[in-house]
Amino acid sequence: MGKLISGKAVSTSLRAEIREKALALREDCGIQPGLAVILVGNDPASQIYVRNKQKACEELGFHAFEYKLSENYTQEQLLDLIGVLNKDNKVHGILVQLPLPDHIDEQTVIHTISPEKDVDAFHPINVGKIMIGDYDFLPCTPAGVMELIDSTGVSIDGKYCVVVGRSNIVGKPMAMLLLHRNATVTICHSHTKNLAEICASADILVSAVGKADFITANMVKEGAIVIDVGMNHDENGKLCGDVDFADVEPKTSFITPVPGGVGPMTITMLMKNTLHAAELKRPK
Ligand code: NDP
Repeated sequence: MGKLISGKAVSTSLRAEIREKALALREDCGIQPGLAVILVGNDPASQIYVRNKQKACEELGFHAFEYKLSENYTQEQLLDLIGVLNKDNKVHGILVQLPLPDHIDEQTVIHTISPEKDVDAFHPINVGKIMIGDYDFLPCTPAGVMELIDSTGVSIDGKYCVVVGRSNIVGKPMAMLLLHRNATVTICHSHTKNLAEICASADILVSAVGKADFITANMVKEGAIVIDVGMNHDENGKLCGDVDFADVEPKTSFITPVPGGVGPMTITMLMKNTLHAAELKRPK
């Protein structure tokens, strides 16, 4: 029977640490970590994410700068706003909630955020730094997964890890973080042949596909750690991951649930990055 990895518990203890460090930074040199959150349009899921980020700021004693902009806000206006925030000393992190409306080019926006304030770690400079293993900002979801694996007490060194999914925000940086910790890593995607066999040889299996019940027991090695990044909805509209939990759980040593696994970690890692951005401004 797999032991549940509680993202809630890991996240709660990390948040307590972040809160304490934020308070110390404020007491030491008057710097309050500040996060600007920009939402363009009315996407309901994005509104929830933005609200949760604001709540996290309140909880941790950060300053939240909120920009809820209309669907018709132009790309030029958005780039101008980012330019202003790039120069604002009270703002240490800038987050533009994705996806953006069709008339705004995501990559242009990401390139405009100052790499020093890019707390999502999406700017090519930060992506490159993650690649070489010398980075200021952690890629939030993969970094959250690393915390969850570490919370099991199992060493990643020398393990065979399989990451299913190769997106720029999850799969690729996930593989890099595991590689930096001396795992042997295979990345799988929709063109991968023998996917089930590859997954079934993993000591640590991370699924970031976006399809409910995608990972079944025949794809999992006895005693594996299984991390489910997926956020999907089942036929009843209930939140679920990529892993067929009831089928897979008995074979695992540790497994993350959905909800309550990777989900709570992503915002916590964003807060950690914002704190780090603020700490970089500490007078030497
Ligand atoms: P993308 O859609 O960008 O990537 C999905 C990946 O899965 C692609 O690389 C795709 O391969 C691969 N894939 C799709 N079908 C198959 C298949 N049949 N066999 C093998 N691989 C397949 O998604 P994201 O990376 O952005 O997100 C993945 C999941 O994680 C989603 O459910 C998302 O909601 C969730 N998520 C959760 C977060 C959290 O905080 N918990 C944060 C971010 C994402 P190919 O490249 O070949 O198309």
